[in-house]
Amino acid sequence: MRVLITGGAGFIGSHLCEAYLERGDEVLVLDDLSTGSIENIRHLRGHPHFHYTVDSVHNHPIVAELVDQCDVIVHLAAAVGVKLIVESPVRTIETNVHGTEVVLAHANKKKKKVLIASTSEVYGLSTQVPFREDGNLVMGATNKGRWSYACSKAIDEFLALAYWREKQLPTVVVRLFNTVGPRQVGQYGMVIPTFVKQALAGRPITVYGDGSQTRCFAHVADVVAALVKLVDHPSAIGQVYNIGSSEEISIGALASLIKKLSGSTSEIVHIPYGEAYEAGFEDMPRRVPDVSKLSALIGFRPERTLEAILEAVIAFHRGLSTSTIPPQVS
Ligand code: UDP
Repeated sequence: MRVLITGGAGFIGSHLCEAYLERGDEVLVLDDLSTGSIENIRHLRGHPHFHYTVDSVHNHPIVAELVDQCDVIVHLAAAVGVKLIVESPVRTIETNVHGTEVVLAHANKKKKKVLIASTSEVYGLSTQVPFREDGNLVMGATNKGRWSYACSKAIDEFLALAYWREKQLPTVVVRLFNTVGPRQVGQYGMVIPTFVKQALAGRPITVYGDGSQTRCFAHVADVVAALVKLVDHPSAIGQVYNIGSSEEISIGALASLIKKLSGSTSEIVHIPYGEAYEAGFEDMPRRVPDVSKLSALIGFRPERTLEAILEAVIAFHRGLSTSTIPPQVS
């Protein structure tokens, strides 16, 4: 199979490239290297089944040519990271909405299956955890720039499902919850690499707010395995799936755990949201996925515990480990 991965030089994208190459598939990457990095795919260059193009998903002729060459498309290219979203809302909205429009329009011309990556952010301020795919989305106010990301991704979801219903283009939507692992950089937010780097450098670990807000963190290898299965599965077409871990932890407890596991002497400090982010920020108090729909379809169960994930990320940042996948737990 030939898979076009937009955003293939990103953190999740580069792991997905590896998974497909290991399976013997051919991979075409389209990435503008805006938040992705050539470092993420350096080790894949020269692989006979790996091809990449540095360009934008807004470039119609390039997208048309790559869509023509592939069998399926995994559309991951997006502006991601809370810091980037709050600081560059125009870029976020344009990349996420227009880029997806271009990909879907060209996919439709050739009727190539597309998996669209959405986000757990679309659940917004909903307090009905765990979040189910058919639950209501509770967006924040439009003067809070953070929600522009959620809204842009919700538009992507509507558009992908509209292409399926109206034009019979096979599309699948996934809502990715917090995903971590080696190669993730803390440049645009992303709490785990940020805390790990702070802990290893002996700098203060910066917990925003009172630290009671929660997240669930899945290892990128578990997420990528689910993506590959969903792309293959005929019953996933026209559906939306949560992908993530259900192991919930508060950000305050996460800071303490990273400090302990890394043997750090860093102090844990609390920073008011107003100082941490520019205006337009509002946090999600809890974020927990219901993954029963995904489990029922593909037998999804994250194989890696939070502790195993953190050990791997700490090892990655220490530069001690070349392994990208921690041992599985039974
Ligand atoms: N966070 C924090 N300190 C940091 C970075 C993030 O306390 O240095 C918090 C952030 O406010 C949020 C959680 O960690 O409550 C997860 O943030 P991240 O940027 O990883 O992404 P999100 O899950 O919000 O999309």
